[in-house]
Amino acid sequence: MQFRDLKQQYHALKNEIDRAMIDVAESGNFIHGQPVRDLETALADYTGVKHCVACANGTDALTMAMMTWGIGPGDAVFVPDFTFFSSGEIVAHAGATPVFVDVHEDTFNIDANELDRMIQKVKREGVLRPKAILAVDLFGLPADYVALNGIAEKHGLLILEDGAQGFGGNIKGKMACSFGDIATTSFFPAKPLGCYGDGGAVFTDDDETAELLRSIRVHGKGAMKYDNVRIGLNSRLDTLQAAILSVKFKAFRDYEIGAVNAVAERYTHELESVVKTPAVPPGYYSSWAQYTIKLDDRKQRDALQARLKENGIPSMVYYPKPMHRQAAFAGQNFDENDYRVTTKLADTVLSLPMHPYMKDEDIALVVKAIKQ
Ligand SMILES: *Cc1c(COP(=O)(O)O)cnc(C)c1O
Repeated sequence: MQFRDLKQQYHALKNEIDRAMIDVAESGNFIHGQPVRDLETALADYTGVKHCVACANGTDALTMAMMTWGIGPGDAVFVPDFTFFSSGEIVAHAGATPVFVDVHEDTFNIDANELDRMIQKVKREGVLRPKAILAVDLFGLPADYVALNGIAEKHGLLILEDGAQGFGGNIKGKMACSFGDIATTSFFPAKPLGCYGDGGAVFTDDDETAELLRSIRVHGKGAMKYDNVRIGLNSRLDTLQAAILSVKFKAFRDYEIGAVNAVAERYTHELESVVKTPAVPPGYYSSWAQYTIKLDDRKQRDALQARLKENGIPSMVYYPKPMHRQAAFAGQNFDENDYRVTTKLADTVLSLPMHPYMKDEDIALVVKAIKQ
């Protein structure tokens, strides 16, 4: 059994993907060819956002947002303590300070009350300027944007939606990657919509922001490529990846997103009486980047993971270390009391095999092993 079976997906779409790759090879247009623009149009349309700017990966997408807003030294960006490293890394990389915020035990996403408390704390201390909230749609579930928008408005902050895991989810029909002033996603192979290497995208409704992003991704270009009006990056999405994504996006939209939701429903139905299954609040739709259960403590979690392994069932711990405990951020002074939920989650979470091509027999095997 595979944790996320990418080979099976390739075989389901092989003819179309092979054709798309050969077409790019024959076109000779390897950089920013037509498939890149076509993909941007399709994804803007799907998310309901005016502009989609494809780029080299999800980390660059976040960095480009920081650059667009001119975030740098002295600025505070509020980031959930329970997330993938990139979400905090790009803030520090911009020279700003990530202020980590604890998460909700049931949704794994940033806790709005804790966020408000941390913003007030930073304001009281008077050392850093609060600038933006980086909200992560962790494991595929959109963050609580109703509450976050209220807090952003109250304190005059921007919202950056890190939708690397959230693409395809929605809240009452409003799609993930449409919630922030800027939103980003990643096409890393194991993400909900993945390519065959690295890729990412930035989303915004704002025309000026979109123009800035398009300049930044090609060395800060001005009117043309050899006219450089600002310091940028080299962060293009390959034509080849865009062509592969155009095939995979159709499958994602038409049936894969429904298929992962069916797997999740089945897991929850079978497991909710045995372990703590992931919560999906009313009106929310997840893209199930991960299906993550919670055990009572670290001992029980580690024992279950070992037992699953003996049965040939792969599982993963996302994430074993809170951001505030990462050595890379050791220079900052953190109060352990601010991160009780994340610290507990790091010891108790376990992500199960999850992908749109999962067979009923495999789901049954996972369920049976856990029940045992
Ligand atoms: C994967 C991921 C990223 C980074 O995406 P890459 O394409 O690997 O650079 C950022 N944030 C979150 C939450 C992620 O899961």
